[in-house]
Amino acid sequence: MMIDNVLQVAKPKARVFPWGTSRPYNAYKDYLKSRFGGRLQKVSVDAGFTCPNRDGSKAFGGCTYCNNASFVPPYCKPGMSIAQQVEAGVEYLSRRYKAEKFVVYFQAYSNTYAPLEYLQGIYAQALAHPRVLGLVIGTRPDCVDPAKLAYFEELAKKYYISLEYGLESIHDATLERINRGHDFREWAEAVEMTAGRGIHVCAHVILGLPGETREQMLQTAQVISRYPIDSLKIHHLHIVKKTVLAAEYQRQPFLVFGYSEYISLVIEFIRRLRPDIYLQRLVGETHPRNLVAPVWGVRASTVQRHIEEEMLRRGVWQGEKAGAGAG
Ligand code: SF4
Repeated sequence: MMIDNVLQVAKPKARVFPWGTSRPYNAYKDYLKSRFGGRLQKVSVDAGFTCPNRDGSKAFGGCTYCNNASFVPPYCKPGMSIAQQVEAGVEYLSRRYKAEKFVVYFQAYSNTYAPLEYLQGIYAQALAHPRVLGLVIGTRPDCVDPAKLAYFEELAKKYYISLEYGLESIHDATLERINRGHDFREWAEAVEMTAGRGIHVCAHVILGLPGETREQMLQTAQVISRYPIDSLKIHHLHIVKKTVLAAEYQRQPFLVFGYSEYISLVIEFIRRLRPDIYLQRLVGETHPRNLVAPVWGVRASTVQRHIEEEMLRRGVWQGEKAGAGAG
């Protein structure tokens, strides 16, 4: 798909926003810079978890868009312990990006889906590396409980601890359609139970899920802004190979975002978000060899830059429509 003229930008005007930068949204990377004095490089590890939405305790088959195989980093080999993966990852990323400070990212599947004693063992291996400052843990609302959260609260006194809860949409009909295996209320309860403990709370949403209107997507921005999340990852729906969604798409193709259409929508979404929510991602990214659609032919960093430039060109910023309607 060609990138059209939404990207014809005028030179942006310099202006400082309430979060202290000239970026028209509150970027997580700026927050990390001010808190840690620079970038925190994520070392992804594969702890061999599964997910209650796959193993049958909640459902079989998983979320229709999910392909965790696309998360396996190049330095992870089968059979490596967490300590070995962290060692290999730190070494690889130090060479590649000259990174100095690290957090260990438990990304694939549901990384709190095990008894607490087992979790304590694997997290301790990750935190034992002298250059690791904390953990980022991707999980589901139905895989945390008060005992696990009390443990994370203790860890958070010494380390940076971030829990990432996938939500994707506030609309239960959508969550059912994509087979999330939980509803909005469960997500909201997990977030409220996690907040106030010194744990960084991150949410994920996906824009463009099948059956959702633009207004419904914008409602997601308004509703999640009422919950105590610290940061947000926004993804566009990208259809990844070897997923239920890819099979649905091949059987009967449905509309996916054009490039400028997504940029316009995500800008409206950002305008409706609470201004103190740090934005970690503005677009999804998968390796081109795993991607079915939409194929834009641009890297996520380029999309992110185009969004930023377009917001400045339009004179809009994060939070200026927080509390407004979806229209
Ligand atoms: S909850 Fe996460 S790991 Fe489980 S099926 Fe859904 S996206 Fe995949």
